[in-house]
Amino acid sequence: MSIPGSFRPELVGSMSEGAAGNPTVAMMEAAFAHHGLAWRYVNMEVTPADLGAAVRGARAMGFRGFNCSLPHKVAVIAHLDGLGESAAVMGAVNCVVRRGDQFIGENTDGKGFLKSLMELTDPRGKAVVLFGAGGAARALAVELGLAGVRRMVIVNRSAARGAELIALLREKLRLDCDLVAAGGEYAVPADTDLVINGTSIGLYDSDARPVVDLASLRPGMVAADVVFSPPRTRFLREAEARGCRTLDGLGMLVNQGVIGLKYWTGVDPDAGVMRRALTAAMGL
Ligand code: NDP
Repeated sequence: MSIPGSFRPELVGSMSEGAAGNPTVAMMEAAFAHHGLAWRYVNMEVTPADLGAAVRGARAMGFRGFNCSLPHKVAVIAHLDGLGESAAVMGAVNCVVRRGDQFIGENTDGKGFLKSLMELTDPRGKAVVLFGAGGAARALAVELGLAGVRRMVIVNRSAARGAELIALLREKLRLDCDLVAAGGEYAVPADTDLVINGTSIGLYDSDARPVVDLASLRPGMVAADVVFSPPRTRFLREAEARGCRTLDGLGMLVNQGVIGLKYWTGVDPDAGVMRRALTAAMGL
């Protein structure tokens, strides 16, 4: 694409503490090129002390929005003009969108998961077991709650963190949910529709898996993992061997990018182009 000298592309990007080597840049730039959009996605390395100045700078420079990752997902809220529904419930933002002259915080992690899940099943009325209560699990739990799941069991190592998530789901979404503070192997109840690994167990470790009783995974259940590298985690391999349909974390990562890009540009991007660019950048 040739850009005349007087023309400046629209700018979006990613604010994180260590910005080097972020593979989502390749994914976003591939979508811009594919759809003929004169946009650029740039990595911005921002320390927590500089976050406010960085957001003011993004406003001043006319950025159309930006992603933010740890440790900025909660702290960024103080510098924004408003929040989307799920970001307000979970109290965390990973995608900022300029609407008019306002910066509005959204959370696309859970929405990305939901978009992937909808390709297999609609979660409305379903029973869910979710391993984990950290940032990713929280985003998923809130989005699944908003999508109308019937019931959710949170299984987490730390009882305190799990209890915090349960309190949020009950108070803000009136969700029927229970906590299991993981001790031994957890047997998934037979009437469960969806089992999710929302922990970091399995990240860069193809032998690790959450402490689930494998015999309790049955055909007809959907097993999903937030871990994207490796995409075929041990949890997914074991679940598939027991007849479950599976969903990998790469789909969630691609779809949070698809949703963010649509928020910013208004264009519904080609997810296949983005997934291929992402996997190539990750060397998968
Ligand atoms: P957090 O650190 O916030 O949470 C980690 C979670 O994993 C906690 O529930 C923690 O339990 C649990 N956990 C970690 N290690 C163990 C262990 N050895 N035994 C039992 N439980 C354990 O991380 P995030 O929620 O931000 O990230 C979780 C995963 O999600 C990461 O792998 C990340 O890469 C992935 N992710 C994927 C995305 C995607 O688009 N696919 C988007 C965002 C994240 P406890 O509370 O007891 O510490």
